[in-house]
This record gives sequence, structure tokens and C-alpha cells, in this order.
Amino acid sequence: MIIKGANDSIVKMVKNVVELFYYETRFTPIECQVEFVDNIFTRKLKLSISESMRTSVLENKDFISCLNGTLILPNSLHEPITILICNKVLDEGSTFLGSIIHELTHAQDYFNFASYNNCTGYYDINNSTFSLWSEFHARRMGYSYLRRLSVMIQQEQVSDNEYIEHIKTTECPSQLKWLVDDLVKYQNQPYQYIYSIMQFLGRYSVWQDTYSLDFNETTLPYELIEAFNHRITDVYCFLYKHKKFDEVKDALDELEILLNRFVSQA
Ligand SMILES: [Zn+2]
Repeated sequence: MIIKGANDSIVKMVKNVVELFYYETRFTPIECQVEFVDNIFTRKLKLSISESMRTSVLENKDFISCLNGTLILPNSLHEPITILICNKVLDEGSTFLGSIIHELTHAQDYFNFASYNNCTGYYDINNSTFSLWSEFHARRMGYSYLRRLSVMIQQEQVSDNEYIEHIKTTECPSQLKWLVDDLVKYQNQPYQYIYSIMQFLGRYSVWQDTYSLDFNETTLPYELIEAFNHRITDVYCFLYKHKKFDEVKDALDELEILLNRFVSQA
């Protein structure tokens, strides 16, 4: 894998994390390159391969400028996918490794999806039901990795009860605040609106993996239940049952129906 714009120690960490990703997921590695950049928006615009991609990048300038990472999809499945990571993430400790896992998950998802549908390129993936599912998946994978890393390097042993309490009183409320802010900001942009919900549910699902009695579809924050009622419970149940590509690849129509209920009644 080619890694540009980073020093040797960052390159080594990225290579290790990519190796771990493929070891754990058992995916056949696809061709990717990683580029660390100062400005995601300008680089993405420069690397855009078609006029429609340029238009989409320009239309979503504010959204793209805020991202920690993004993908540049090539013309065909035979060419490498480029992962852009914003240099600002390097100031946040190990966060950039979570961003690498996140973008690599997207890259792998998109490749799997295009291959499964016998496509020669990555058409119709951006802004689709599948890319929304992939946001849930990528958020899950990146966050799960960072969580395991923080447990490994923590100085003092934290008990399960203490950690559950920490999630309930600190992590979950702060994630919820991000979500509420995004829902207000994107109330007239259906894709970004649902994308924000996918991010939250992706993280929530990682808590359920470890502490399923405290975090499951019946314990979603009451603010979400109040706002969305069974719509949020239904979509979360679906996502948790379809956490992997092989589980979701033939069930996207069902997911689309569940997601449309957010837009039509939002
Ligand atoms: Zn993403």
C-alpha cells in the first residue's frame, strides 16, 4: 500500500493497522493508497475524475471540509481507491488510526458492492442506501478499533460497571449532542440527515457488542425515541442484524423502506 504525506512512524502505524484490519475481517485486500493532506476539500476537488464528481464536491463543500477522511473512487474496479486523511486528525492522538479503519471499511464495502453487482465501476454508490449502511458499518469498525486500543493502553484497570457508567453519563450524551446538532443543521438535506443517524447508531452498536444488557434496541436514548418513535428502533434492529456486507447485500430494499420513513416524516 502506498502511503503519502506522512513520516516513517505514521506510515508504520498505518501499515500495522491495515494488516490488523485484513487479519480480523478476512477480506481479500483491495488496492488502496492513503494520502495525508491539509485540506480534504481542495484535494478531493483536484482528484475528481469527472464533471459530475466535481459538481458534487462543490455542492457539498461545507460537509466535505469538516470530514476527517474521505475516499476518491476511481473509474474502474481495477484501479486503486485513494483514501484522503486530513492532517488535523494527527493532532488527536490515535484518532487517525480510527479514521484509516473507517475509510478502509468504506473502500472495502464499495468494492464488495460493485463486484457483487457485476459493475465495472463505482456507479450509483455515492448518496445511496448502501453508502448509508456503509456509514453505519465504517463508524462501527473505526470506533470499535479505537475503543479496543484505549482499553489496551489505559494505565488503570476500569471495571465493566465503571465503563458502562462512563458511556451512559459521558460518551453517549456527547454523541447524542453531536447528533442533535447535525439533525438541526441538516434538516433540509435528507442524505446528511440520515448519515448523522447512521454515525450515532454505528457507535451505539459497539456498546451493544460488549454490554448488551445495558445497550440494545430497548435502551436507545429517550430523546431519540421521543423524536422518532419506532422508526429509530426498527432501523437499529435492522442494522444490528445486518452488521456485515454478506448480511445486508440482499436486504437493501428493506433498509431503504426503513430509511425513507425518516425523510418523509422528518
Ligand atoms: Zn464515513
